[in-house]
Amino acid sequence: MAGKYLFAPPEPASVPIVGDARLYPVGRIFCVGRNYAEHAKEMGHEVDREAPFYFTKPSSAILATGATIPYPPGTENFHHEMEFVLALDGPAFRIAEADAMSAVFGYACGLDLTRRDLQQAAKDKGRPWDLAKAFEHSAAISPITPANVFGAIGDQRIHLAVNGETRQDSRLSDLIWSVPTLISHLSRYYHLQAGDLIYTGTPAGVGKLVAGDRLEGGIDGLEPIALTIGAAE
Ligand code: MN
Repeated sequence: MAGKYLFAPPEPASVPIVGDARLYPVGRIFCVGRNYAEHAKEMGHEVDREAPFYFTKPSSAILATGATIPYPPGTENFHHEMEFVLALDGPAFRIAEADAMSAVFGYACGLDLTRRDLQQAAKDKGRPWDLAKAFEHSAAISPITPANVFGAIGDQRIHLAVNGETRQDSRLSDLIWSVPTLISHLSRYYHLQAGDLIYTGTPAGVGKLVAGDRLEGGIDGLEPIALTIGAAE
């Protein structure tokens, strides 16, 4: 029997949910740039306090915690960025900050993996960041904890260790753009919807990864995230 499609379409990317046997299907992945002052500084930038900015990753970049990934092709400066991730379950279009949390289903730990050398080259030439940010296995994520279990966003610790040595260590209270502000702002440009993830930016301490590295990250109240870097393909 002839199929509807030329070839079988892939299953949607998905993320486990804490306390729920169902999976969270991933639609789009939005990422916030420079959302911690100390990280902006280490990257050689002033914080732009006029408006947040974004880039995206394909949903196919989603990577479950516990994985071992090959060191990616095309880079000699592969970086970790530990992040607080929002998982939306409601529509939000031109939503007010006061109403924005109604669109949040839950939260997770994420790693925005980055080819830093290609990002710098793109910045230098005024080119897009896709090669640096939107590649295979570049969006690692822990299981999602529902918002009502996590409670209010406050000064929860966010941290990442590589081979047991702490490299990133900050607090969610150090976010420049708050979660409701981000959702409200992004909803001026997109019809946000269930399945959309927002990686909210990384604190200071980003750094280089090499084959054999073992990453372990956490945020108070969320499932931890772990990742191992294998040999280059
Ligand atoms: Mn990032």
